[in-house]
Amino acid sequence: MKHLARPTDKSAQLLLAGEVFETCVSMVRNPALKAKLRAARPKVEAEAADYADQAEQGRLYTKLKHSAVGAASADEMVSVYTSRMVPKSASGRAVYDHIMSLPAHGRCPFCGIGTVNTLDHYLPKQDFPVFSVSPDNLVPACTWCQGEKMEYHSSTEGGQILHPYFDDFDDDIWLSAEVIESAPAAFRFFAMPPDHWTQPRKERVAAHLRELGLHRLFSSNAGSRLSEIRARLTGLFQKGGATEVRAHLHEELTSLEADQKNSWTAAMYRAAIGSDWFCQGGFLQS
Ligand SMILES: [Zn+2]
Repeated sequence: MKHLARPTDKSAQLLLAGEVFETCVSMVRNPALKAKLRAARPKVEAEAADYADQAEQGRLYTKLKHSAVGAASADEMVSVYTSRMVPKSASGRAVYDHIMSLPAHGRCPFCGIGTVNTLDHYLPKQDFPVFSVSPDNLVPACTWCQGEKMEYHSSTEGGQILHPYFDDFDDDIWLSAEVIESAPAAFRFFAMPPDHWTQPRKERVAAHLRELGLHRLFSSNAGSRLSEIRARLTGLFQKGGATEVRAHLHEELTSLEADQKNSWTAAMYRAAIGSDWFCQGGFLQS
């Protein structure tokens, strides 16, 4: 939900999948395995180029699962990632660390809440081993998002979750919430994209929330946020009733939307402003 630029090197050139792959396999000691992996490099390069083309058009759902890359098995390709990129001493570790460092404040681009502490393979590495160390397929993520996503991949356009490097759906407001009139007040989150979006585009934001379990994550965070701001809202309510409460929420929302229109906080504040029940004191009960 937070767009990131594609991974680049220090001179702002895109990280090339073939070079990253070579860096990772350069320290393989077994000569036969090394030769087999190096023979896979042209395929890795060609597929990475096509990946970028398809991803730009939201068409990664068309990529086909495969169980080998030339003579290299899926397990051997996956181990280029697990043994040659992830370990602290691995030859590809610098690339891993660099991609992990891409999001501002270390914030997970999928949810906007968690702290990045892993790389997620957008197309799962076991099913798409040719992309096991391709930079465009490696997305920094938090434990929550990776745990929810697991090996998820969609073979339909509308089922695809958002890809932080290639999808930027933030031109329009699509994340919405409503106040649940309970004690304490709670928030329910859902996708409400604009009418002019295509059907698959509408389905994708809903899939993003569903497959990453973001309804639950956002609701839980909104509950905590309300606890934090309740005393402030109560003071405003005592001073000037619902009008004062709404004016304050509006002011906060302006700042939140200037940062990101589709953050859970912006959706929460929009919902609160839209609820007469909330602004007339529904928030009071803890
Ligand atoms: Zn996350």
